[in-house]
Amino acid sequence: MEEVVVVGGGWAGCAAALMAAKKGLPVTLVERTDRLLASGLVGGIMRNNGRYTAAEELKLMGAGELIDITDAAARHRGLDFPGHRHASLYDVEKVELPVERLLARYGVKLLRQCRAVDVVAGNGKIEAIRVLQRDGADLLLRGRAFIDASGTAGPTANCNRFGNGCAMCIYRCPTFGPRVSIAVKAGAVERAVLRRAGTPGYFSGSCELEPTSLAGWLQKELREKGLAIIPLPPEALASQSSVSVEIKACRQYSSEAFVRNLVLLDTGAVKMMVPYMPLAVLRQLEGFEEAVFRDPLGGSRGNSIRFSGVIERDRRLLVPPLENLFVAGERAGLSLGHTEAIVTGTLAGYNAWRICVGEEPVELPRGCACGDLVALTGLGEGWREKHDLVYSLSGGPLWEHLQQQNLYSTDPEEIKRRLDSLGLLQLFAADAPPP
Ligand SMILES: Cc1cc2nc3c(=O)[nH]c(=O)nc-3n(C[C@H](O)[C@H](O)[C@H](O)COP(=O)(O)OP(=O)(O)OC[C@H]3O[C@@H](n4cnc5c(N)ncnc54)[C@H](O)[C@@H]3O)c2cc1C
Repeated sequence: MEEVVVVGGGWAGCAAALMAAKKGLPVTLVERTDRLLASGLVGGIMRNNGRYTAAEELKLMGAGELIDITDAAARHRGLDFPGHRHASLYDVEKVELPVERLLARYGVKLLRQCRAVDVVAGNGKIEAIRVLQRDGADLLLRGRAFIDASGTAGPTANCNRFGNGCAMCIYRCPTFGPRVSIAVKAGAVERAVLRRAGTPGYFSGSCELEPTSLAGWLQKELREKGLAIIPLPPEALASQSSVSVEIKACRQYSSEAFVRNLVLLDTGAVKMMVPYMPLAVLRQLEGFEEAVFRDPLGGSRGNSIRFSGVIERDRRLLVPPLENLFVAGERAGLSLGHTEAIVTGTLAGYNAWRICVGEEPVELPRGCACGDLVALTGLGEGWREKHDLVYSLSGGPLWEHLQQQNLYSTDPEEIKRRLDSLGLLQLFAADAPPP
């Protein structure tokens, strides 16, 4: 019998598995594709705005391992771009293996190309999840605590109905099979976040170009400065404005600066801060004459639709009516981002450990960036009634809230004092160093 079973190997699932394993529990992490980190493989922006504070808080709480990996893989640090300060950009090709090795050091059993497809549940508890292995054989994974960190992208039908079709994105649903909501199968309530027009789900806020397909001068600028801001001519603007503002999950990239300009970031790929852009329009721009998309491959038409399946949970990330199911990452509410996923993943893993050792799961106290993130982004906890939005520590109402409450800081001493006063220092530290 497993102790903790985690479904989904994105940032949230990796953080959850790592946390429970750091506490000495046998942990199995089930990932439907052949790679870890999922949307983390097409992202890269860290430490922008309030994410800086949350990253430092994680480190002070004893859960800095994944932050350290992203810091070590950074191609650029301390970048300012419209609406964002002190961002770092990790190399999207350099983060996955260090994470995999770290999980292995702590003994996490990683089952790749294994897709959770069903649950065995009764009396308010999940007893086991049914997993479909690569060869089509069934595997029943029993456990005492379960964590659904399966993200909110896919299945393809959602991208067909609510987006522009399958964009052949990093989730690769046609190859590895669709996401399955084990939380819903166990009786949890799932809701879709609605775009302003009432359509479920949002497009991702960026897509990727192949760096070598851009003109030499543009490649050089990106390599040296980490970013390039290209003003859009009127004809491109018309096409750009129509797609950019209303459909992005990341509202922080919806300001006028992102409508009037193409903002490019160097993450190893060229991260272009629009959900998609017609190739014919893009290739009209100087420097983009031979541009090609990297991921999503259907990038001139679309992107994956996310946030069409968010689970109701409490502040401990426990999913009612179940006693042993937690959620993390995008599944856990209206928050998006790698840092955000690491925060909720860590708390879910910690609470999974607590119930395995007979302790009550805990909430993170309000009054720090991580605590307020968890408290304010759950479904049905007030904000959703006002705005049907997705929040992050780096933009939108949550970021404004952090600034208003003086919870945003880049001063290590100030952050440490705050966490000390909340009793959070080393909360998530390992009981023993890894073997
Ligand atoms: C194009 C794009 C760019 C982004 N850029 C940034 C950025 O620069 N900075 C930033 O902070 N955030 C960025 N984000 C947002 C950020 O990546 C996500 O909010 C966060 O990483 C989500 O992590 P997650 O673990 O919750 O979900 P995911 O990354 O979606 O991971 C979920 C995992 O669960 C697996 N899974 C699903 N169903 C099953 C199943 N049934 N069985 C087994 N496994 C399953 C999936 O294969 C996947 O690996 C970006 C997102 C996208 C899509």
